[in-house]
Amino acid sequence: MQTMKTLKPAFTKANKYLFDPSAYSWSLPSGTSCPFALKCLAAANRSTGKIISGPRQEFKCYSAQYERYPSVRARVWANLDAVRGLNPNEVCDLLDSVKPTKAKLIRVHSGGDFFSQDYFDGWLKFVSKNEDCWFWAFTKSIPYWVNRIDSIPDNLNMIASYGGKRDDLIEAHNLRSALVTYSTGEAEEAGLPVDTDDRIAAYGKTNFALIEKKAARREAATKAKKEPTHEEAT
Ligand code: SF4
Repeated sequence: MQTMKTLKPAFTKANKYLFDPSAYSWSLPSGTSCPFALKCLAAANRSTGKIISGPRQEFKCYSAQYERYPSVRARVWANLDAVRGLNPNEVCDLLDSVKPTKAKLIRVHSGGDFFSQDYFDGWLKFVSKNEDCWFWAFTKSIPYWVNRIDSIPDNLNMIASYGGKRDDLIEAHNLRSALVTYSTGEAEEAGLPVDTDDRIAAYGKTNFALIEKKAARREAATKAKKEPTHEEAT
C-alpha cells in the first residue's frame, strides 16, 4: 500500500488540453464525489489507487484513471477532506482562502462533481463573490442545479453532462448539455458542434458534443494517415 502525502486544499493549473493554459481547476475524487454518475462511474481506491468501475459504465472516466497516481489522489482527497461537512458559507470561505489571486478562469471540477446541495450552494456563493473571474462547470448532479435554477450567477456557465442518473431533468428544464459521442460523424448527425478544448463549454450558450477520448485519438490517427504529405500535395 502506498502512503499518500497530506496536502492542503488547493486549486491547480488546468490541464494542457484546455483552450487557455492560464486556467485553474478544482478537483475532487472521481466517482466518490459524484452521487449522480452512472454511465461514466469509476473511482480510484484512496489507498491503493485501484480503479473500480460502476456496474453500468459505458464510457471511461479519465479523471479516475489519473487518480491511479498517488500525487493526484493526494490532491483530490485533500480537497474533499477540506470541504466535506461544511455549510455553504464555510465552503465559500474555504475556496476563497485558497483561490490563487491571479486566477481569472476556473473550471469548477476537472475530476469529481457537486456531491451535496450545501457544497453546490457554497460554490454559488464563491462564484458570486468573485465577479472578476469566469467559471464553468460540467455536472451530473442535476437536481442540485435544478433546485437553484434561478440563482446561477452570470459568471458561471453550467453544462449538464449526459450519462447520469437524472438525465431526465436535462430536457425537462431545458438545460444546456454535453453529450459524449464516439465520432465526429455521430456528433454531426446529432447536430452538435464538437468541443475539443473546453472553449465551447466555457463560453458557449448551446448544446455540444464531446468525442470519447479513445475514439478521438483513433480519428486523429486516421486523419494523420490520410493527410497528404507536402510532396503529394504540391
Ligand atoms: S461524473 Fe465525471 S468525475 Fe464523476 S465518475 Fe463521471 S466522469 Fe468521472
